[in-house]
Amino acid sequence: MLTIGCHLSSSKGYLAMGKTAVSIDANTFQFFTRNPRGGNAKALDEADVKDYLAYAAQNGIHHILAHAPYTLNGCSADEHLRDFARRTMEDDLRRLEFTPGNCYNFHPGSHVGQGVETGVSYISGMLNQILTPQHQTTVLLETMSGKGSEVGRNFEELREILDRVQLSDKMGVCLDTCHVWDGGYDIVNHLDEVLDEFDRVIGLKRLKAVHLNDSMNDLGSHKDRHAKLGEGKIGLEALTRVVNHPALSELPFYLETPNELDGYAKEIRMMRERYL
Ligand SMILES: [Zn+2]
Repeated sequence: MLTIGCHLSSSKGYLAMGKTAVSIDANTFQFFTRNPRGGNAKALDEADVKDYLAYAAQNGIHHILAHAPYTLNGCSADEHLRDFARRTMEDDLRRLEFTPGNCYNFHPGSHVGQGVETGVSYISGMLNQILTPQHQTTVLLETMSGKGSEVGRNFEELREILDRVQLSDKMGVCLDTCHVWDGGYDIVNHLDEVLDEFDRVIGLKRLKAVHLNDSMNDLGSHKDRHAKLGEGKIGLEALTRVVNHPALSELPFYLETPNELDGYAKEIRMMRERYL
């Protein structure tokens, strides 16, 4: 069975997200751990988490994906911003221990002119400070489109970070179809070759999740503008090959397309119909 869901608002808590997911025939979902622009998280409601876990077990929801605020920059040139990123991630991981066995995805960050090497060293340094052998959450680096000075614009840069994290079994990768396409990986005409390259450079065993998005822009545009499935430059046929590819088909897929709930429901139905 295809594991698919979409990004949901976390403002009403876990149980509400679980019920919303079920209402659109999703069996997983993604959510921001706090305001996507950063700032304080609401106090964790342990009763809500307990109700959610029971509901999720009854309704077959699994592999949920927490997403860090996208403004976090663990490789900023500003020490205070790096420190803020570290403290936020530490707090997020502490809270995620209440829903163990899931993944936490983050954008590696932007090196803002300091160079990739400095960026990679700050990011891996931050992870080495945060991760402990006790953590029950897998931390995922997201593949980025390479706009501005984003680190993670190609598989090699992600590999560099992974190589320097000591507790590397706590780490994985989330592949975003829009980002890799915008980053120059032709998943429309050469999906097999792109996945072979991923396997060679990073290792497919590291791949834990897929962000399933179409792209408004051309291959290699380094833009990062998501489109609805089938309404962008990747197209429905290529995205159908992605969910059915033997290297990917067992992974959880998350829609981050520009949709309200009914649009997500339609895309989930569409992909379930196309899943072999
Ligand atoms: Zn993301």
